[in-house]
Amino acid sequence: MIYDYLIVGAGMGGLSAGLNLALHKKKTLILEKNDLPGGLVTTFKRGRFEFDTSLYDVYDYGDDVHVGLFQDILKKYEIEIETKVVPFNIRLKDLSTRSNYVIKGEIKDFLIELERLNEGSINSLREFMKITKEIHDALELLKDHEPINKEEYPNFYKYLEYDALSALKDLQMPEETINRMGFFWLELGSPLNKLSFIDFAIFMYKIIFKKDVVLLNNALDFSLKLAARFQELGGRLYYNSLVVSVTKKGKIYIVKTQDDLEYKAKHIIFNTSKRYAYSNILKEHEKEINKLENARSLSPNGVIVYLGLNRSIEELGLKNYKYYQFNTLNSEKNVGYMMNINHETFSAVVPNVVNPKASPKNTTILILKKIFFGDVFQNLNKSNYKSFKEEVAEDLITKFEEAFKIDIREFIEEIEVATPITIERYTNSINGSFYGYMAKGYDNPIHRLISYPDEEVKDFSFVGASSLFGANVDNAFYSGYYITEELLNKKEN
Ligand SMILES: Cc1cc2nc3c(=O)[nH]c(=O)nc-3n(C[C@H](O)[C@H](O)[C@H](O)COP(=O)(O)OP(=O)(O)OC[C@H]3O[C@@H](n4cnc5c(N)ncnc54)[C@H](O)[C@@H]3O)c2cc1C
Repeated sequence: MIYDYLIVGAGMGGLSAGLNLALHKKKTLILEKNDLPGGLVTTFKRGRFEFDTSLYDVYDYGDDVHVGLFQDILKKYEIEIETKVVPFNIRLKDLSTRSNYVIKGEIKDFLIELERLNEGSINSLREFMKITKEIHDALELLKDHEPINKEEYPNFYKYLEYDALSALKDLQMPEETINRMGFFWLELGSPLNKLSFIDFAIFMYKIIFKKDVVLLNNALDFSLKLAARFQELGGRLYYNSLVVSVTKKGKIYIVKTQDDLEYKAKHIIFNTSKRYAYSNILKEHEKEINKLENARSLSPNGVIVYLGLNRSIEELGLKNYKYYQFNTLNSEKNVGYMMNINHETFSAVVPNVVNPKASPKNTTILILKKIFFGDVFQNLNKSNYKSFKEEVAEDLITKFEEAFKIDIREFIEEIEVATPITIERYTNSINGSFYGYMAKGYDNPIHRLISYPDEEVKDFSFVGASSLFGANVDNAFYSGYYITEELLNKKEN
């Protein structure tokens, strides 16, 4: 059998690509190296707890009124999921100013709070919101290959080359407000002075206009649902199938797995970074690696500590969905700290605050995350790996207790620690990078979309967090849809 499309990897990008192709009746095979679908969107069990590995905010989903892109594509695939909208519920501590405050409610409450904390911010905040919409709408036009009129979208043209910090300053936003609002940069893995304003604006647009949700069933259920629908549409999905090489015979590609099984296909789609694919699978094609690709930087990586606690959130006093501590809210300075293993910045999420069914009755899940920039793991080896994990976990638990005056240590029933090595082993993301490539400078969605036709190597496509729209589940999922739509349209024309 010769498949029309063979997809390497059943992460969000790969599953979405497979679903769209199967929907269009293309003979499609997905080969996944693990024994479950979803890549990072999965769960693991420890005792009576089932931990979601990564999906705590589903961006660009929205509700019945403000339908986000993610929800829209799921509808196209006829997949229904149960979700709940998550308003802001964040406790934030900034060590440099000793400030410690809560942001709660809808976006308007957040803006009111920012104005209350720093009078005179509101006009620049309103202008910023307007511009996020303009940039979002311009990107939509670009995706549809429509021209973007300079008179109608002046800010899109103006801010195309700006980093987020320069753009916010240009909007005359007070520095303290920039820092207070800019903490979201941590979720994108790039400091404001390096982060492309386009990426920042689009991310903020989703948060402001399309509500974030959580999944009411767990992340693995979601991935299994996607895989089942793909198979129902006629797609084939083989697990435990690590792809090790792709070679060409005439017009057909021969795909080999670790078990020496061979599959044939006309077109290959990688749900991996180009860097991984070219250095591990497409060795023969190395010459074709695009220069731009070589210039991209990997996103930061980090350590995640998953805790199962044997008390309810009320008993523990955990009131907020998310907790953040920063060395300083100035992102440029903070990244300097984050190049050192002992920095103080971390985030925490408590799924039970928005979803009481996240763990058994009278228990709580708490997930602590510490991110690093640069190669802080260079001294890690087999002999010190275990003690390193224990030390970082120990340190993060202490930091959380001290920062928020909440005791957790004595209530820990289960603990698991994931390092960049865990992430790399499970997904093949290089160095266990969390968010694919860094969302910086020239490497924003606009530039990627424009240079996409030149970067493309015939018959190979790339979907997922390292693809056109950057990381996070909504982008990875959307890239699978968008790239296959482009391929289908090209074949039809
Ligand atoms: C700790 C953490 C928290 C996060 N929280 C959020 C969040 O709250 N919200 C959000 O939207 N995003 C979040 N993200 C980001 C999000 O999880 C990712 O951006 C997204 O899941 C990436 O999807 P992907 O399609 O790129 O595939 P991946 O998840 O990387 O999957 C790639 C798949 O390909 C398979 N594969 C790789 N190589 C091969 C091969 N040679 N042969 C066969 N199969 C192969 C892998 O096994 C894997 O299944 C988080 C990430 C981390 C690390």
